[in-house]
Amino acid sequence: MSSTQLNEAPRDSSAPAHEIETLLGAGAIRPRPVEFTHGSGARLFDSEGNSYIDATSSYGVASLGHAHPKLVGAIANQAGRLMALTPSFANGQRAAYMSALVEALGAPFSRLFLCNSGAEAMEATLKVARLKTGRTEVVACIRGFHGRTLGALSATAEKAYRAPFGPLVPGFTHVPYGRIDSLAEVVNSSTAAVVLEVIQGEGGVRPAEAKYLREVRELCDSTGTLLAFDEVQTGFGRTGDLFAFQGVGVTPDLVALAKGIAGGFPMGAVGMTEALGPLPPGSHGSTFGGNPLACAAAHAVLDVIQGEGLCARARGLGEHAMARLREGAGRNVREVRGRGLMIGIELRGAVRPALDALFSRRILALPAGRNVLRLLPPLVIDERDWDTVIDNVLELTA
Ligand SMILES: *Cc1c(COP(=O)(O)O)cnc(C)c1O
Repeated sequence: MSSTQLNEAPRDSSAPAHEIETLLGAGAIRPRPVEFTHGSGARLFDSEGNSYIDATSSYGVASLGHAHPKLVGAIANQAGRLMALTPSFANGQRAAYMSALVEALGAPFSRLFLCNSGAEAMEATLKVARLKTGRTEVVACIRGFHGRTLGALSATAEKAYRAPFGPLVPGFTHVPYGRIDSLAEVVNSSTAAVVLEVIQGEGGVRPAEAKYLREVRELCDSTGTLLAFDEVQTGFGRTGDLFAFQGVGVTPDLVALAKGIAGGFPMGAVGMTEALGPLPPGSHGSTFGGNPLACAAAHAVLDVIQGEGLCARARGLGEHAMARLREGAGRNVREVRGRGLMIGIELRGAVRPALDALFSRRILALPAGRNVLRLLPPLVIDERDWDTVIDNVLELTA
């Protein structure tokens, strides 16, 4: 077959968007048969004008909800001034954001690497750990998720994500999450880093105990191993603290950030402690990383989270929801877990039917594995919409 024949697949541009995307997309994701055209706060609207409650924030990304006026204003303003600027030249917008983010992370964090996604933040974290320790081994956790590029994927344990893509990066070991004895068996003076999430997200919304994290910190200190937290999903107010590590009182050496960082604008960052010192010039980089537009968006997000008390809001709405979910849990609910507005409801059976039923009631929620229903609503969701989500989840998991 010639290449022109291959290109003759129907591409009627008046076909529904999901059909075109299914046909022309790489195939790894099949969009559902609905097209969303715009959003406002925690609401999304489809092409027929129906309103949905978004309890996903697109995987925790749209933390200020959709079309937040301060975020839209910051992006529009910066887009009209300067969008692209390589990190080789300085920019006031970038410098201001870096100051604000270092301040938000708090001591001992003193340096940042800016990039464009969670996987990139993890790649930088892994490279910095190897570079700074001169060691190659990395220990991560079963059920952890760190992204899909080859380095980040090597840190991710789940076979379904890894299987077809080997050989992956050598030097990675996975141990059960939450078990200090398993970790102590493999961490030693050749371990560059221990990498884990403060609350495992994709792996089922599993919070680590503070005691475990303190013991991990001690183990790392006693072996000269760096502790890296992947806060790509838990960062920026999601768990009721600006960063989840601040809530548990255990400070890592490296922290990877993305998802909610810029409210939907693509961005990632790595926070590094003072003791790590700077990277050698030219040792790592990113063409788009730290562009003024992303920095303006991220700065607006940080200002709104801090200025409008969204961490406390996430904590309050989360406690309210978890109390209701635990109290009202029906036979199909095995456990309710989470912190702030990162909530997992583990079911006795598969979660897909409950998600489909929620969708038909125009509520968007997420899975986390086969049998956990995950809620990651915008931090600005109003109380009535949030109670509607909880009412429906209770009804559909009874
Ligand atoms: C989503 C996620 C990633 C990957 O982020 P991308 O922006 O999709 O590359 C990494 N770690 C955690 C904990 C995540 O939730």
